[in-house]
Amino acid sequence: AGLVVSFGEMLIDFVPTVSGVSLAEAPGFLKAPGGAPANVAIAVARLGGRCAFLGKLGEDEFGRMLAAILRDNGVDDSGVTFDAGARTALAFVTLRADGEREFMFYRNPSADMLLTEAELNLDLIRKAKVFHYGSISLITEPCRSAHLKAMEVAKEAGALLSYDPNLRLPLWPSAAEAREQILSIWDAADIIKVSDVELEFLTGTDSVEDEVAMRLWRPSLKLLLVTLGEKGCKYYTKDFHGSVESFTVKQVDTTGAGDAFVGALLGKIIEDQSALQDEKKLRELLRFANACGAITTTKKGAIPSLPNISEAMQLMEGA
Ligand code: ATP
Repeated sequence: AGLVVSFGEMLIDFVPTVSGVSLAEAPGFLKAPGGAPANVAIAVARLGGRCAFLGKLGEDEFGRMLAAILRDNGVDDSGVTFDAGARTALAFVTLRADGEREFMFYRNPSADMLLTEAELNLDLIRKAKVFHYGSISLITEPCRSAHLKAMEVAKEAGALLSYDPNLRLPLWPSAAEAREQILSIWDAADIIKVSDVELEFLTGTDSVEDEVAMRLWRPSLKLLLVTLGEKGCKYYTKDFHGSVESFTVKQVDTTGAGDAFVGALLGKIIEDQSALQDEKKLRELLRFANACGAITTTKKGAIPSLPNISEAMQLMEGA
């Protein structure tokens, strides 16, 4: 089977020990390892696929802890480098009682932002059947150049490029800059997944109708996906489009649902790319990806709740 190489940030989210409080009110915090590209890597591996993570961590206790989490989950960490002078990124995150998410990032700069082109493990990138990335690694140099170089090398080597922008507005200098930069690498991708919120942000609308999604379509794309939370997802290819419903679960914490969805998708694509042309196969695949996303919402945190194959099968067969 082929290899997924997932590129970008891995960090620690600190989440309040109790729910529904502001950061200032929180009595304490728990470590919740994350970073969307790292979550995707672990999602692929937990479902039995081959995956490597490529990024930079601080040469500190937290950096070593995160690398161990990758290895313990079966993710190849030979593309991970360590920065002696910068810390592993931290983010304090809470969902307040009023439903607003509050973030506080410690990236001044953090190790992930300091990855350079020269530090890229090019051999690893060239082995990828799918090369996956987000947009946070585009925000500042030198990581931005490393990101662009890695995409170029992967593409030259024949990998499919997979992009999940994973918008984190507070990390960008402005909304306009975020939109422009996120779209600046749109045309290179073969597969793009956005959430309903990202679709609205990128198109400047408050709609997820097909006409709006089609504004994000490019002839260079093989697959565009829009995730809709509990409603499942929509898919667009050059020949067909439609939607696939998700499963009914008791939602506890949605963190990582999108990453589980992407991991499930990419793990299947490295086995068999024909789903990109075959609607029936694609719908089956997206049903599986929806199940994996749904399961991830049933427990707190991202990494602890990513499903294995038997959990995914159980939900699909029980439905
Ligand atoms: P994240 O919270 O990780 O940023 P996202 O916004 O990228 O996630 P979502 O649309 O929330 O992605 O979820 C991804 C997929 O997970 C959905 O397309 C759906 O299949 C599944 N999913 C998410 N929430 C639920 C839910 N409450 N019930 C069933 N399925 C869900």
